[in-house]
Amino acid sequence: MIPAMPRILLIEDEPDLARAVARGLAEEGYVVDVEHDGQEGLFAALEGDYDLLLLDRLLPRFSGDDLCRRLRLDGLAVPVLMLTALDGTRDVVAGLDAGADDYLAKPFAFEELLARIRALLRRAAGQAGPRLVAGALELDPRHRRAWWRGRPAPLTATELGILEDLVRHRGQVRSRGQIAAAVRDLPEALSSNAVEVHISHIRRKTAPHVVETVRGLGYRVEAPE
Ligand code: CA
Repeated sequence: MIPAMPRILLIEDEPDLARAVARGLAEEGYVVDVEHDGQEGLFAALEGDYDLLLLDRLLPRFSGDDLCRRLRLDGLAVPVLMLTALDGTRDVVAGLDAGADDYLAKPFAFEELLARIRALLRRAAGQAGPRLVAGALELDPRHRRAWWRGRPAPLTATELGILEDLVRHRGQVRSRGQIAAAVRDLPEALSSNAVEVHISHIRRKTAPHVVETVRGLGYRVEAPE
């Protein structure tokens, strides 16, 4: 369930754009806080209990990429929608590598921004419930955090969703299609190939054996002994 009034943190240094987006989102019923530079934005994101971050990529003091990496290193898997004036493939890849969940190139249609926000919130709302533990792995879907051997694991919201699906079905083989369907609530459905890439990221951020590949069938998180 989507919370009644989702809280959004907008980090954007162009005052006119920040004002217009904040006003539009408020009219849609969102609670919006605005920060204008990367450092203040990072503090606010770490302090506040936000449902989503709208993050400009080019910011004074702290880039959107750096900010996003810092959040993930701190174990915070809040959905991040990156706003970027640059829509070259390399810029998009850099943003996603830094831990953003989705991106939108400026100038964008406000309707598209709303659609992507709704999709990210719907997906995050599906990740609710008590903590899940599988061996040295611990997930807190409600607060979108993950730990590996007691240390924060810098997972993105998508990676957390994939891992949550596998842990909820532990001991069972999940096909790429099943996993994609469980976390796909995005404007573009998560492709099966993307699942493979996300799983390689999960392994790099935790340990290679966290997720087992069952050749030709899919993936599995081991059931306890
Ligand atoms: Ca900017």
